[in-house]
Amino acid sequence: MSGKPKMLSWSDFPPDFVVWKLNPTGCKLTTKELAPGVYALLSSIPGVDNVGFVVGKKGVLVIDAHISVAMARQIQERIREVTDKPILYLVNSNYHADHVFGNCAFPRETVLIQHRETAARTPYFKEEWEFMLPAVANDPKIFEGASCRAPDIVFDGHLSIDLGSIAVETHWFGPANTPGDTVTYVPGARTAWVGNMTTGTFGLCLESDAPAYMATIARLMERLVIDTVVPAHAPIHGPGVFGDNLRYFGNLATQVKRALQEGWSLEETMKRTPLDDAYRLPDADPRSVFTNGRHSYNVRRTYNSLKEG
Ligand SMILES: [Zn+2]
Repeated sequence: MSGKPKMLSWSDFPPDFVVWKLNPTGCKLTTKELAPGVYALLSSIPGVDNVGFVVGKKGVLVIDAHISVAMARQIQERIREVTDKPILYLVNSNYHADHVFGNCAFPRETVLIQHRETAARTPYFKEEWEFMLPAVANDPKIFEGASCRAPDIVFDGHLSIDLGSIAVETHWFGPANTPGDTVTYVPGARTAWVGNMTTGTFGLCLESDAPAYMATIARLMERLVIDTVVPAHAPIHGPGVFGDNLRYFGNLATQVKRALQEGWSLEETMKRTPLDDAYRLPDADPRSVFTNGRHSYNVRRTYNSLKEG
């Protein structure tokens, strides 16, 4: 690994960006069987992480460790209500606290799987701790007992895991929300956990840009046949969300490229590239407060990225 990767800082965010609400206090995970042996664990608090697990003859694979030791324990309690088989594998969808801080609360024998780009960032635990504190209402107690756990398997493109009677795959199609966004796919159930890649509406190109996001989504659509999508921060949805993202980021890329050709400043571009009404959520939707700021971030990130070339 060569050098420290660039970590996010709140100064990278536009003023109208609303910080994620990831505080798990009071969160109850509900087990939803999607297919035989395939389970989503859905959060009772909107926006707080959904996770999941797959049970085969040999044992269990878990998708994401959640944000705290307490939540990681709750995941294991839910699993024990279904099976007493060993937890063989744990996959992290990305390097953010809400996906990895629970890693340390899984058994030592559980094999932790991360993409290379995720593995490059998880060692910077203290930075991530500080960055994510506002997302848990600045309550450091939430992160108590959490520590960095090194992966046992680091993959680049994809990985196939035989749980006995059921196969699970992990895939990396390129950067979208984070550089190491990992899709955990159960081909037999046409089900995919996509972490932060989809949000039910349009995504956030937190560490990529509009053209990169589109390329990643396009590769995913080409390679996987998906009926059911389990996003980390939105209700379960169908595969139509991928096309929605292609359209959204396609329009955004076109608008930003035109702005650069016209020589508009960043401020002017942001003002002249409002969120299309088609993507606005009704005010009653708890996610609606996040959409405007997310769009501003996407415009700004894409503008800066394409300007640098
Ligand atoms: Zn997340």
